[in-house]
Amino acid sequence: KIRLENVVKTFDTFRAVRGVSLDIESGELLALLGPSGSGKTTILRMVAGLEYADGGAIHFGDQDATDIPVRDRGVGFVFQHYALFPHMTVAENIAFGMKVSKVKREKAAIEARVAELLRLVRLENLGDRFPAQISGGQRQRVALARALSVDPKVLLLDEPFGALDANVRHDLRRWLREIHRELGITTIFVTHDQEEALDLADRVVILKDGQIVQQGTAQEVCRNPQSAFVMKFLGDAN
Ligand code: ATP
Repeated sequence: KIRLENVVKTFDTFRAVRGVSLDIESGELLALLGPSGSGKTTILRMVAGLEYADGGAIHFGDQDATDIPVRDRGVGFVFQHYALFPHMTVAENIAFGMKVSKVKREKAAIEARVAELLRLVRLENLGDRFPAQISGGQRQRVALARALSVDPKVLLLDEPFGALDANVRHDLRRWLREIHRELGITTIFVTHDQEEALDLADRVVILKDGQIVQQGTAQEVCRNPQSAFVMKFLGDAN
């Protein structure tokens, strides 16, 4: 379980995150939903350890996150713009994380794991292709396989489907739900797309100006929006 307690983040004088408290249960698929600039990415980066909170605390289980070095946090990250290495094949991209991990594996073990991950993300025939030779949706699946290669405890997805067209996004949502059901890994999904968040997540946390304005299941927040902002924001999805 991950717990954020009154987390604050200020850039120069600008308060990007203003006292966010949130529990993320083990195995949950949680969406952070909000308009551009509401602080979603900053929260994700603090959970990953790429950014430090300047107020409040983040706990991983009963440990204070500041006591856990980034590489020991067990987080896998996928960004909107798939940062695949263009000069490496799909299989090499997936293997990369395992090669640099401090958990050393034999070459054969890495190859077996890559094959397993290619099957999981349904790309078993594309291991030898280069990123430029596959579609955007397939690249995001490779990025997810790479993030999963080191067996993270938590998966952080920052607008992973944002750059793709609507049909592909729709298919990837369904696919991500299946993968999540299969692996049961704690997942935080950042999006500004209401429909995506409501469709995908067990629980939706809605942010505005660095604060949580409402949270609940898709049904709860849709049936009972607690402010004009939430009503309008969710309404824009229709
Ligand atoms: P988007 O969907 O546009 O990525 P977001 O909800 O993820 O938005 P954040 O990226 O977390 O929002 O940014 C929140 C606010 O903090 C924004 O106003 C942004 O300009 C500001 N901000 C983020 N990172 C920095 C930084 N490194 N330096 C200064 N300001 C920053």
